[in-house]
Amino acid sequence: MRFFYSPGYYLPLPEGHPFPMVKFPMAYDMLRAAGVFSEEQVTLVEPAAREYLERVHTPEYLDRLARGELSPREATVLGLPPSPELFVRSARETEGTRLACRAALADGCAANLAGGTHHAFADRGEGFCVLNDVAVAVRDLQTDHSRLRVMVVDTDAHQGNGTHALLGGDPRVYTYSIHVAANYPSRKVPGSLDVGLERFVPGAAYLDALRASLPGAVDRFRPDLAVWLSGADPHQNDRFGQMQLTVRDMAERDAFVLSLFQPRGIPVAVLYGGGYNRELANTARLHRNSVAAAAVPPGTPAI
Ligand SMILES: [Zn+2]
Repeated sequence: MRFFYSPGYYLPLPEGHPFPMVKFPMAYDMLRAAGVFSEEQVTLVEPAAREYLERVHTPEYLDRLARGELSPREATVLGLPPSPELFVRSARETEGTRLACRAALADGCAANLAGGTHHAFADRGEGFCVLNDVAVAVRDLQTDHSRLRVMVVDTDAHQGNGTHALLGGDPRVYTYSIHVAANYPSRKVPGSLDVGLERFVPGAAYLDALRASLPGAVDRFRPDLAVWLSGADPHQNDRFGQMQLTVRDMAERDAFVLSLFQPRGIPVAVLYGGGYNRELANTARLHRNSVAAAAVPPGTPAI
């Protein structure tokens, strides 16, 4: 199994900014310390080439991002201060997802130690998501595997509106999202299957809804590749997720999602998605746990 990462996934943000950028190096260190990978399994990622990004994003948006020239309103909606460095960082994270999807297809499983920026659209970013890494990765895979059936499994607490908008209508792609119906984003874009839950849903109800909806979708669609946006924000101590999952619930979620793919030989690319835990290290631990669950048999370390 290969892991995709770069120290460049970290970009300093203004003091007090709500996006926990330090989770990337923190989760990387935790994964290494837990022995989930050795250094040889890690590929250091460069920014994605423009041609990959242009398969999804408008040249005009990319030009303005590269110059750090978003309007004040666009920057507010994005939630991150625009700069040339932010563009490079986002292009690097997107490349990690592109490479992880290709590696998963080749090896059965791979992880980008970041990624899952599901609120980005062709010409705009929202909710801390600058570029849509999954859409870029899917369009890239389709250049070599024109009939590949890709299932996007989005268990981040928020709906994958950008991904749905960019990949909707493509019969080769199935988008599944389980999220709080009344939470951000306020305007949802329908995916192939949306499971909208009540605010502050308890872990047991969440797991029931997941178990009732995802297996049938997998059976009906029969994917050749699953791209899993795991998401650390369903945790009960998250600031934005509005769910009440415990660490144990989240481990059950991870094991259940993976059990639908790995035993059947369906490759899985693992991505982080969001996480805004009131205790910063918990976000990193939850990302670590999801990656570790995919990398090793069940029964390995929880938080
Ligand atoms: Zn989220």
